Order: sequence, then C-alpha cells, then structure tokens
Amino acid sequence: MTKIQETTLEINLPSLKANYHHLRSNLNPNTKFMAVVKAYAYGSDSCEIALYLENLGVDYFAVAYTKEGIRLREAGVKTPIVVLHPLQLHFKDIIKFNLQPSIYSYPVLESFLKVGKQENQYPVHLKFNTGLNRLGFNAEDLPELLKKFKAQSQLKIASVFSHLGASEDINEKDFTLNQIKAFKEIRNEIISMLSYRPLFHLLNTSGILNYSREAEFDMVRSGIGLYGFGNDPQYNLCLTPIASLKSIISQIHHLKPGESVGYNRGHVASVPMTTATIPIGHADGISRQYGQRNGFLTLHGKRCPIVGNVCMDMLMIDVSGVDCKAGDEVVIFGPEHSAAELASTASTISYELITAVSQRITRKIVY
Ligand SMILES: *Cc1c(COP(=O)(O)O)cnc(C)c1O
Repeated sequence: MTKIQETTLEINLPSLKANYHHLRSNLNPNTKFMAVVKAYAYGSDSCEIALYLENLGVDYFAVAYTKEGIRLREAGVKTPIVVLHPLQLHFKDIIKFNLQPSIYSYPVLESFLKVGKQENQYPVHLKFNTGLNRLGFNAEDLPELLKKFKAQSQLKIASVFSHLGASEDINEKDFTLNQIKAFKEIRNEIISMLSYRPLFHLLNTSGILNYSREAEFDMVRSGIGLYGFGNDPQYNLCLTPIASLKSIISQIHHLKPGESVGYNRGHVASVPMTTATIPIGHADGISRQYGQRNGFLTLHGKRCPIVGNVCMDMLMIDVSGVDCKAGDEVVIFGPEHSAAELASTASTISYELITAVSQRITRKIVY
C-alpha cells in the first residue's frame, strides 16, 4: 500500500462485498435487499458504493433526501432509489430523476398527487409508524388510505414499510416484538384489501441480525452493516469496517513543564512531553468532545490521546515516548481501530463518527 501524504479516507470495496454477502447469508435467498446509501453512504462515497453494490445485484437503494438520489442518478445508477424523507419542495425533481418517494402522511400524499398529475402507476412506498414516532401513517389511517389509493391510478404502492426503534437493544426485545406484531397486522389488512401485492419490509441491519426469523418479509434495508458495523461486539466479528481514516504528523513539539498546547491552553504540561500536530479537526468531524484525552489516535501501533482542545483544522496528540517524526502515519479509525470504540470515548456511536467525516477529506477507493 502506498504511503498517504494527506488526511485520507480509504474505502475498501472487497470488504463491502464481504459484508454484503455476510448480511445476505442470514436471509432467505429470495429476500430483496435495499442498500441504504444516505449521507454519502455513511460518510464514505455514495456514488462509488452504489455503483459497486449495483453490480453485486442489490434490488433497491435508499437515500434520505432527494438531492442524494439525484447524485446517484447523475453518476449512472439505474437501480430503483427510494427517498426516505422527501420534502414537498423536491417532488418535481423526484419525478424528473425517476426517484421513488416514501409517503408518510396525508399532506405528503396530497401534495405528491398534485405534482404527479400526469403519472400513471408511479411507484411510491408507504411508511407506517409502529412505535418510533418519527415518520409514518398510523394503523388507524389504513381504511381511508387504501380507499384513496383504490380511487386513483396515478400512484402504485410498490412497498409498505416501517422502521424499528431499538433493534440493536436486546433489553427492548418486547418493544421490538410489539413493533413486529403491529407491522404484521398492517400487512394483513393491506393484503386483504389491495388487489395487488406490494413488498413489505421492516428490518434494518440490527433487525437482520436479531430478528430475521420473526420479520424478514419480502425485503430488508441495511446501511451500517454494509459499512462494517453490527452494533454488537459479537456481530462486529463477522463484518469489516470498509473505511479507514488516516492522517500524517505535520509537526512535532517538545513541551517543558508549564508550557501548554492548543487554544485556551487546553492542556498544560506537568512533566516534559512531546506532541504531534495532525491535519484533521472538528470541521472534519472529529468534534471537540474527543479532546482533553478522551479520544485517541493510533501511531505505530500505540494509542496516543488527543490533548487539549481539538481545533477546526488540526488536533494534537500526546506522542511522549513514541519514536516518531513528521510525515509518519496515524490512524483515526479503521478495521483494526474501531470507529465504534473511538465514538464511545465521546459518548456517541459509530453512525455519528463515520457520517461526520467532512467532504474536504480525500476519498481513496481500494479495489
Ligand atoms: C437509515 C435507515 C435504515 C438503515 O439503518 P441501519 O441501522 O444503518 O441498517 C433503514 N431504514 C430506514 C427507514 C432508515 O432511515
């Protein structure tokens, strides 16, 4: 592997493929797979990831917002793309770029019907709330909602879905089983009232890993699992983080006792110490919470705590006792240096750390 010369997010496509196959191996071969590539494919590179997954044969992509879907279309992605949280402002673009909206409320439905007046059997995805209380129709809406759909031919229900609120949390198993039960009731009612059969889907990554026996239905939706995290140490063993965030030492400083490092004298040396300045900061997604020795980077296999306050474009690590020089590589996270573990030092989760990696950081695809 060539030495990096700037802060770089390496994205390993063979690992993505292995994660995809691992997730699939838990499922019935006929079950469809929706790859969630919102937020730049969880901070990596949505176009590269989507084109690669398209080749592997995923059935659908999901993005959160319309612009994310447009990017994929402009990159040449042909697979159906669901926009999970479409805003009315973008409905014209949804149709123009052949994207498929999630319809989660009556106002959204009415407004999409208006924009899509000319359409015939345009595919939409009905979202139901079964306990997350974020987006979705409620089960009580069903009779009237289905009546509305039967009275028109503009839109076709391609799928019906809901989202689990605590699929990774075994202490909330009863809550999840209740969500599954509620979704099954919705499904039965729709099947009995509709003349055609939409796809039904409920499970996200942790749902696939914990509840595929109970709730696989016709399709699953996975994001974090594709990127290498199973939200559980046991599942993490079978998945490989696809992204490695690396940087290099810009400069070394030797501090005498009483000297300080960084803004507001964030750390004052009590004994002689050596610090290294790294070209990545809170504007790149390494928030100030990681400072003050909470977070760490890995240098020559040794953990070096982040000292003082994280700056916008740089941070400093304590390299006392580590043989190093300017230009040496440091790892912020990667397959051997879990983003989940680093995230926990700032009381957050892998999802937040990996999606925060700023767009000014160079992406390098590893084939
Ligand atoms: C983000 C999202 C997912 C993916 O969840 P993971 O935990 O990353 O697998 C699935 N479904 C919906 C509705 C989402 O918003």
